Amino acid sequence: MSLRFYDTSARQVRDFTPLREGCASLYLCGATVQAPPHIGHIRSGVNFDILRRWLTYHGYRVTLCRNVTDIDDKIINVARGEGVEWWEVAERNQRAFTAAYDTLGCLPPTVEPRATGHVPEMIELMRRLIDRGHAYPAADGSGDVYFDVTSFPDYGALSNQRPDQMRGAADTDDDRRKRDPRDFALWKGARPGEPSWETPWGRGRPGWHLECSAMSTKYLGGSFDIHGGGLDLVFPHHENEVAQSRAAGDGFARYWLHNGLLTMGGEKMSKSLGNSLLIPDMVRKVRPVELRYYLAQAHYRSVIDYSDDALAEAAAAFQRVEGFLTRAVEVVGAVEPAGRVPGPFAAAMDDDLGVSQALAVLHGHVRDGNTAITEGGKERIADLAGQVRAMLAVLGLDPLSDTWTQSADSGLSDVVDSLVAVALEQRQAARARKDYAAADAIRDQLLAAGVVVEDTPRGPRWELRRS
Ligand SMILES: [Zn+2]
Repeated sequence: MSLRFYDTSARQVRDFTPLREGCASLYLCGATVQAPPHIGHIRSGVNFDILRRWLTYHGYRVTLCRNVTDIDDKIINVARGEGVEWWEVAERNQRAFTAAYDTLGCLPPTVEPRATGHVPEMIELMRRLIDRGHAYPAADGSGDVYFDVTSFPDYGALSNQRPDQMRGAADTDDDRRKRDPRDFALWKGARPGEPSWETPWGRGRPGWHLECSAMSTKYLGGSFDIHGGGLDLVFPHHENEVAQSRAAGDGFARYWLHNGLLTMGGEKMSKSLGNSLLIPDMVRKVRPVELRYYLAQAHYRSVIDYSDDALAEAAAAFQRVEGFLTRAVEVVGAVEPAGRVPGPFAAAMDDDLGVSQALAVLHGHVRDGNTAITEGGKERIADLAGQVRAMLAVLGLDPLSDTWTQSADSGLSDVVDSLVAVALEQRQAARARKDYAAADAIRDQLLAAGVVVEDTPRGPRWELRRS
C-alpha cells in the first residue's frame, strides 16, 4: 500500500508522489504571536510533527518551513494596551510558542521565517502580481495594495465556493479603495503610530496572506509538496495564498492537509476559553508526553472537544504502554527500538495518518507483551518491547527516548532515585524484622513527599505522584 493523504483541494484521498524523489517539502502556517499558545494552537504542531516523522520514516528528506506572523493588528493592539513596542509582544510570545513546541516534543522546523524579515520578498511578489494585472495599489495613495479577485478565475476552488456567493473581505479601513469588495489586501497602507515599511507604492505593512506565499516560495520554491494548517485557515487565508502564488505564475502547494480544531464544550477555542488551557498549566495536570498522546491520538482531521476526563483517560492509556516498557526492561534489560514498525501499524499510518488505528495496533502489542511477562518468555518480551518502542518513536512518544527521559528533570531524577532507594532499603529491613508499623510509616512518609511505592514480585517500584 502506498502513502496517501486527504487533499483538501482535491476533496479526496490521493497517493503521495513528491516533486523531487526522496525529498518532501512541507510548509506549515505557524503562530500569530499576539498571545502565548493554548493546546488548540499546539495541536497543529503535534499533528504535523507526526506527519514529518512518518515521511522521515519512509526515507524522505523532509524540509519543514513553519512561519511566524510577527506583525498583525492583534499584536499592535496588545502592545498598545501594555504600552510596549509591537516587537516586544512578538518576541515574548514567539519564545512561549517555541517553549511549548519543545515541551510537547515537536522537532524544530528546518527553517522558521518571520514575516518582518521578508519584506523585500513580499515587495517582489506584489510587483509580479501588479505586472501581470492581478493586483493594484489603491487609487487614493493610501499605500494599500489589493489582489484583484476577478482576475483569477479559480478563486474559491480550494474552499469550494463560488465567487459570486462570497462576501467582501473586511481587512482594511476603507473598502471604497477596492475595485471589488472581495478583493483582499496584500499590503496595508501605514496608519499613524503604527510600524511601517517602505514600498514603491507607499509605506505600509504586510498583509497576512502575502507573507505565507512569499516565505514558502523563498524557502521551498515556486512549487512544493505539502501545505498544512488548521481547518479554520482554508478560507480566506489559504484560498488567498493559492490565488497570489498561482496568479504570479508559481505552481505552489501540490497537497493541502488541514487539521481539525480543538473545541471546548463544542465551541471554538477563544482567547478567554484558551486562557484556561495554556501549555504551562496543562503540563501541571499531566506530564508533557501524556499531553502529546492526548493531542495525537485522534485523527488529525477530526475535532477534539477538550475535557479533563478525556485528558485523564489518555494519560492512563499512555501509562499502560509505559508500564509495559518499564516491566519489560526490568525483566530482559535494555531494549532498543526495532528497525521497522509492524505492518498493520504502517498500513494505518500510510492511510492518511490513521493514528487511532495505529495506536490500536500498539496497544495490542502491549497486551501481548504483558501476557508474555506473566508467562516469562524473555525473547518474546524483548521482541514486543522493541516493536512498541519503534511505533512510539514514529509518534514522538517513546518514553525511553532522550526527549522524554531528559526533559524537565535536569539531572534531579538520579538524585531522587538514590534517596528513594535508601528509604526503600530501610523499609525492606523493617519488614524483614517484621516491624510492619515502621515499614508502613516509611511508605507513608514517601507518599507525603509525592513518591508512590508499589510492591511487585520483583521488589518495590516507585514513581512520582501526579496531582
Ligand atoms: Zn499561512
